Amino acid sequence: MTAAEYKARVADARKIVFFGGAGVSTESGIPDFRSVDGLYSRKYTVPPETVLSAEYFYSHTEEFYKFYFDKMIFRDAVPNAAHIKLAEWEMEGKLLAVVTQNIDGLHRAAGSKNVFELHGTVESNRCLRCGKRFGLNDVIRFAPNVPICDCGGIIKPDVVLYGESLPEAAVNGAAEAISDADLLIIGGTSLTVYPAAGFVGYFRGGADNIIVINITELSGFKNSLIGKIGELL
Ligand code: NAD
Repeated sequence: MTAAEYKARVADARKIVFFGGAGVSTESGIPDFRSVDGLYSRKYTVPPETVLSAEYFYSHTEEFYKFYFDKMIFRDAVPNAAHIKLAEWEMEGKLLAVVTQNIDGLHRAAGSKNVFELHGTVESNRCLRCGKRFGLNDVIRFAPNVPICDCGGIIKPDVVLYGESLPEAAVNGAAEAISDADLLIIGGTSLTVYPAAGFVGYFRGGADNIIVINITELSGFKNSLIGKIGELL
C-alpha cells in the first residue's frame, strides 16, 4: 500500500488497535531479538531464549540477572516517534489500545494509558518469598547481582519468561480490544513468539483492515508498509 493510502485509512479509522513488538523500540536504542543487529545475531555462550526461560531463572539466577541487567535493561532509552504517535492517537480518541510484546515500559512513558503488556514489564518486580513489590530502580541498585528483598527472598521481574503463562488481565484486555477494533496496525514484530503472535487472530474486521509496518516483509498480509515504524506510523 502507498503512504497516502495508509494515511487515508488511519484518518477514517475510529477504533485503532496497535499490536507491536521489539521493533517498535529499536529506534529508542533497544535491540530487538531477530533482525540483523538484534540480540539473536550476537554471540552468547547461552542463547537468549534459554537465559530468558523460567527454568534458567530458577536454576541459574545469578547468570540470569547478569544477562538481564546487561541486555534487557536500557535505563536511558526514551520513547520514539512511534510511541508518541500512539499516545497522541489515544488522546484524540481514535486508538482503543496498544497491545505490546515489549517489556520496556516505553508506551506508558510516552503517555499511553490503555496498554496491554502481554509479556509484562521490567518496571514491576516482586519478592518470591513475601510478595513485596518493587520498582525498577529498587532492583537496579543490586546490578549485576541478584536483587534480594529485606525478607531475604529473591526478587523476580514481572516479565513473562519462556515457559510461563501470560498475565490474565493483559490477555483478556488485549483480546477484547483487538476484537473491538476497526483497524489493526501490526508493527515491529516478527510474529514468531507464541502465544502472543496469535492475538492478531482475535481481529474481526477482515484482512483489508489489517496493516503491517515492518522493516522486513511479513508474509500473509495484504497491506504492508516496509520501513521504520518511527517514520511510517
Ligand atoms: P522480534 O525481534 O522477533 O522482531 C522484531 C521485528 O521488528 C523484526 O521483524 C524486525 O525486522 C522489525 N523491526 C526492527 N526494527 C524496526 C523498526 N525500526 N521499524 C519497523 N520494524 C522494525 O521481536 P518480537 O516479535 O517482539 O518478539 C521478540 C520477543 O522479545 C518479544 O516477546 C519481546 O517481549 C521480547 N523483546 C522485547 C524487547 C523490548 O521490550 N524492547 C526487546 C527485545 C526483545
